[in-house]
This record gives sequence, structure tokens and C-alpha cells, in this order.
Amino acid sequence: MWLLLAAFCIGLARHSEGFEPLVDGWLSTLVLIVPAGVCWLAVAGSGRRRPELVLLALAMTAFATGNVVFVVALSRNAELAFPSYGDLGFICFYPFALTSVALAVRRELQGFRGTIWLDSLLGGLGASVVLSVLLEKVFAQAGGGPLEIAATLAYPLFDLLLLGTVVGVAAQQGRQLHRGWLPLVAGLAVFSAADIAFALRVSSGNYVVGTPMDALWGIGLALMAVWACGRPAADRQDHAERSVVLAVPALATFAGLVILAVASRRELSLFAVALAVLTLLAAAGRTQLAFRQLQRLGDLRRQASTDELTGLPNRRALTVGVTEHLRQVRPAGSAGDALLLLDLDRFKEVNDSLGHHTGDALLIQVGQRLRHQLRAGDLLARLGGDEFAVLLVDVSRSQAVAVATALRSRLAEPFTIDGTVLRTDVSIGLALAPEHGSDLTLLLRRADIAMYQAKRERDGSRVYSLSADDHGQRLRTINELHAALERGELILHFQPKLTLRDGQVRGVEALVRWDHPSRGLLYPDSFLGLVEDAGLMPQLTRAVLSAALDQAAAWRDQGRPLTVAVNLSGSSLSDDDLPSEVAALLAARGLPGAALQLEITEDFLMRDRDRARHILGVLREQGVEISVDDFGTGFSSLAYLRDLPVDELKLDRSFVFPMADDARAAALVTSTIGLAHSLGLRMVAEGVENAAALAELTRQGCDEAQGYYLLRPVPAAELEHWLDQREGQVAASERR
Ligand code: C2E
Ligand code: CA
Ligand code: CA
Repeated sequence: MWLLLAAFCIGLARHSEGFEPLVDGWLSTLVLIVPAGVCWLAVAGSGRRRPELVLLALAMTAFATGNVVFVVALSRNAELAFPSYGDLGFICFYPFALTSVALAVRRELQGFRGTIWLDSLLGGLGASVVLSVLLEKVFAQAGGGPLEIAATLAYPLFDLLLLGTVVGVAAQQGRQLHRGWLPLVAGLAVFSAADIAFALRVSSGNYVVGTPMDALWGIGLALMAVWACGRPAADRQDHAERSVVLAVPALATFAGLVILAVASRRELSLFAVALAVLTLLAAAGRTQLAFRQLQRLGDLRRQASTDELTGLPNRRALTVGVTEHLRQVRPAGSAGDALLLLDLDRFKEVNDSLGHHTGDALLIQVGQRLRHQLRAGDLLARLGGDEFAVLLVDVSRSQAVAVATALRSRLAEPFTIDGTVLRTDVSIGLALAPEHGSDLTLLLRRADIAMYQAKRERDGSRVYSLSADDHGQRLRTINELHAALERGELILHFQPKLTLRDGQVRGVEALVRWDHPSRGLLYPDSFLGLVEDAGLMPQLTRAVLSAALDQAAAWRDQGRPLTVAVNLSGSSLSDDDLPSEVAALLAARGLPGAALQLEITEDFLMRDRDRARHILGVLREQGVEISVDDFGTGFSSLAYLRDLPVDELKLDRSFVFPMADDARAAALVTSTIGLAHSLGLRMVAEGVENAAALAELTRQGCDEAQGYYLLRPVPAAELEHWLDQREGQVAASERR
């Protein structure tokens, strides 16, 4: 195919204008027929792609046949009527080819979502607007009988549509489609360029057979044939180039506006103006859609921040409220805040002996009493189960302790539920800000420690402290941690991230474990706080990064180019050397930046936005992807994510768990996915624990999923085993 094309091009370049049988007869016919033949061959082994390939093969065949009619007439020097049967062949190309592209895009994207459609439409309209002005002359010349007018108009109209489709598909290319689509996009683009050049030349009366331009159609068809032969690429999904995705609607709008501006000064065809207006309307529609999604998300977030049983704010609301509050700068010398963690004693017994109904009623009443006991500015939330949290704003230590005592004695009064009198006790742990920490995670962890001490020692409430023997234990652990880092006791487990579109695993998350010599395998929640306190986080991050990249390099050598995601704590991101260290670690192993993904939390992004933008920007320039972890637990406005260098959002588990039986949660997930997509971001769901959640997320167009249902975090060797088994299963089902 390519040899023929080369011969044709050489022939065209070497002979003078005008018809020459070998080149413009035989070769020009063959360069169209052969790609069509190749495409038919591709149909044979095509499987799921069969419908779209058959259509494409039909399109090419029609075009090649049309060309035969044309060439025969030329060779006889006969005047060809317009439109002729040849034109019928040519024109048939378009509907077949367009339908083929539409089918292929739909298969690849597994159904369309609103904004994707609109973006393609906008891209297409924008391109058409520009083109319609170029083709003004062609439209203006349409004349003769109705058939002739129809044929004259059909070409430029179909070209507009084709080019619009190319731009639309190209816009998706940045977001969702594989690199394997490049030949198709290029082929269609070359083809429509040939058509347009032809139309312009014919309309100005200077088209002659036998110029290099004639090769363009052959090149276009050959490229399409290449696409037909390719397998739906199994290589890594291309990175979403968000700027490109967002640029399409902007450029289309701009084109529309320019055309309208030109129309006000110069005569333009009604068609061009109508197209421009349509483009602007579609752009307005898109903005409106994005805006509505934002608004809806706001509503849903508000709803989703209340606890259904007690009507109190829930954990999510507490996170947002406390983070917001702690971020505020306060005058020096002002009092601090206190975080109280309350846990009912023996609540389980109430539930077990009197039933859930009674347990629920008790929780509701507890919530009411607590609320009445607090000031307006304090924040009360139910964390789940029988746990409540209170943020006391602007209090001293002694005031906070007094409030805790008051809350305890109020709850010690008997409750009456369905005529039964119940008594309950509560244990309260207090952590003070800024003394014990200035972010919610740390405060909660410490309040929790204090609460357990209170429970253990049955002394009601307790302020977090490092008591003498705690201190000894901590020191021992911190020393052990130093040793652990040196001895390599910190190991990594890996959990796969499944691409829902095609069921492939392209990345894994690395999760740290401490293989403690006497205490067994420890999970991060039990030692990360200590690491942070001991100032060892930078060392831990470095150890994890190099172990993760070692593993990534080993996998690459085995022919598994998995991307490894590493979690970064907020503190390691205040480390200015991070980007250069990451670059060095990658280079030492000969890995591309794309082998690494970094997961950061919303907290970090919010705390210092400019700094985040800078550090992440530098990392991203190296090709490292940035993922926002625990998404949804932090702040309320998504809109500003647009200007942060971020590639994907990881929807927090707390949204995914209740999806199956809570319609509000499901709706929240749906609109979050929609919004992420309209910002050109990928959405990953974590905490997928069952088939129902996986199916629902797939249906909603979520991009990736991670969770126990697929695989728990496991050592590298186990992950490899799992991947091998999966591949075996996929191969077997394909054979079937
Ligand atoms: P994360 O980044 O949100 O990690 C996901 C956690 O969810 C992991 O817990 C994982 O085992 C768990 N998980 C995965 N699928 C499911 C599921 O279907 N259901 C449930 N219930 N849980 C699931 P893990 O390994 O205990 O890690 C806890 C946290 O510790 C991580 O949360 C991350 O914030 C932090 N962490 C882990 N490794 C590192 C590290 O190397 N560096 C830093 N700075 N933090 C780390
Ligand atoms: Ca993570
Ligand atoms: Ca997470």
C-alpha cells in the first residue's frame, strides 16, 4: 500500500500536468482500491470492532469505485456529466465513514456523557464555522437543476461535517481516546483537506488532473486503513492534556464570535452566520451545564454533610468546618480551640439487648442534649456509630474541661425511650489546638488516644497528654522507627487500580507497612502519627519513593509498565527539594515521569495554594501525575481545581460505601464524576467493596476503581500472581 503510494507520488511529481494513463489512470485507481482491500482484510479478524470496520470498508470501496468511473471518463477524454455515477460513489463515502467513526467513538468511550457530546459538537461547529467562510464561493456557485445543486452542496457540507468530526474526536483524544486513534484522525483530516482544496480549485476554475494534490485522497485512505488494522491499543492511556480539552470550547466560541464580527462589516452567507450563532448557543449551553452541575453539587454536598439519623452534621461536615476554622489566622494571645471526642459506654449492649430501634432513639436524644448544652459557635457532629465530636471555639484548657464535665453530667441523666428508662455513660477525650496539633487528623488521633485512656481508667474525660510511661513507650518506638528505616523494615504493599473502560490494570497504589520484628505487620494508621511527630516523615517519604520506583523499574523489565502511586503527607510537600529528588530517583532507574503518580490530600492543596501550584507544577512537568486523595472530604468548592496542576481525583471511600443503598450518596457520586470530567480530570473511586458498587461506578462513567472487591493491598509478588491470573481469564474468555 505504501509502496504504491510512493510510486504514485513520484509519478505525480515527475510528470507535467494533465492526464497520463500509468500515473493518473492505473496508479491513482490502485492507491484507493488497495486501502479499501486492506480494510476488508482487517474486518476478518476484528471481533467487537466489526460493525465500524465494515462501514469504513464500505465507505472506502464506494469512494474507490466512484474514482474508477471518473478515471475511465478521463482516459477516454469524455466530458463527464455532473453529477455522475462517480459522484454517487464519492458521496456515499461520507455517511458510511461518519457512522463508522460515531460507532467507534461510542464503543471506545462506552457511551457518551453530556459534556463530552457538547465538547465534540462545539469543536465540530467551531471548525465548520471557519470552514464555511472559506467555502463561501463554493456555496455561492451552486446552480443548475435540483440534482446538481444538491450534489454541489453535498460535498462542502459533508466536508464540514467530516472536519467537525475530526476536531471533535481530536478533542476527545486528549481526554479519553487511545493514541491508536491518531491514524484515523490524521486520515480524515488529510482526506477533508484534499476535498476542500479540490472544491476551492474547481470553483475558481483552475483544477487540473495530475498535480501532487491528487495524492492526498490516497494518503488519507491509507491512514484510515492503518487505523483499521491496529488493535484497540492496549498501551497506557494517554494523559489527559487538560489545557487542550478546555481549549476546544474556548476556541470554538472565539471562532463563532469572530465570524459574527466579520459578518457585521462584510457580506457573509446566511449559512456561515447561522453556524456561528449555533456555535455560540452550544457554547452557552455548555457553560450552563457546567454551572448547573456545580450548583447541584453544592446542594448535594450540603445534604450529604448531615447525618441521616440525628440530623447533626456528619464527619464530612466536621472535616470541612474544622479545617476551615483552623486555617483562619488569629490574633496572637487569643485562646485556642478544643476538639472533644465522645464515645458512649456500653452502647453495644443497648443495641444488642433492646434492639436497633432503641439504640437509634438513644442516639437521637443524645444528639439533642449535646446540642442544647453547646454555644452557637461550637460545632457538633456525629462521626458514626456511637461517636460524637465537638469543636469548642476560643476556649482555654480549663473552660474546655468544664464543658466536658457538663456534657458528661447532662448525659448521665436518665433517658426515657418507649417507656423504658435508660442510663448511659460517655467517655470524652480532649485535644487542644494549637497545643496538640493544628490539623484535624492529628487532633482527632490525639483526642482518640485521650478518649481510650479515659475509658480504660474509667475517669470520664481526659485531656491528651504524654504521660511518663507513654513518653517512654513513644521514645522507644521512635528509636525503633529510626532503626526500621535503616534496616528496611518498612515495606510496601500494592493495590491495583482498574481502568473501568477496558478492564485493564495500568497502575497500582503503594501503601506502606511496618514489618515490625516483634509486633508483626503494622498498618500506617498506627505509626504515621509517630513518624510525623518524630520529624521522620521526609525520610519515610524518600524510603517509600525509592522502594516504589525500584518496584516500578522491576515491573518494567518484566514487560509490565505499571504506574506506581505514592502517598505524600502534607509535611513532605513543604519540602522544596522534593521535585529535584523525584527527578533524580526517576533518572537513576531510567524511568519516565509517567511511571510515578503522587497522591496528595485536599488539605495540602488548600493550606497554601500558591505553593501547591508551584511544587506540583514542577513535578508535573517531569511527567509525574498528580492525584487528589480522599477527594470530597475537604473543601466545598471544586471550581478552583481548574487552575491547579492536577490529573485525577480519588473519590473518598465515605462516598463510595453508601452508594448502594443511599440515593443521595449515589447522586453525589454521579455529579462529582460529571464535574470532574467537565474539568478534564479523571475520576478514581476507592473503597470499592462489592460487585454492585463496581457496576454502578462503571455505569456512571467513573474512570478507575480500587478496593477490596478487586484486591486488598498485597506484596508485589502476590500482585503479579493476581495480574497473571486475570490475564489468563481474559484470554480464555476471548477465546470463548
Ligand atoms: P489512603 O491513601 O486513603 O489509602 C487507602 C486505604 O484504604 C488503605 O489503607 C487501603 O488498604 C484501604 N482500602 C483499600 N481498598 C479498600 C476497601 O475496599 N475498603 C476499605 N474499607 N478500605 C480499603 P492503609 O493501607 O491502612 O492506609 C491508610 C492511609 O495511610 C492511607 O490512606 C494513606 O493516607 C496513608 N499512607 C499509606 N501509605 C503511606 C505512605 O507511604 N506515605 C504516607 N505519607 N502515607 C501513607
Ligand atoms: Ca492514597
Ligand atoms: Ca484515599
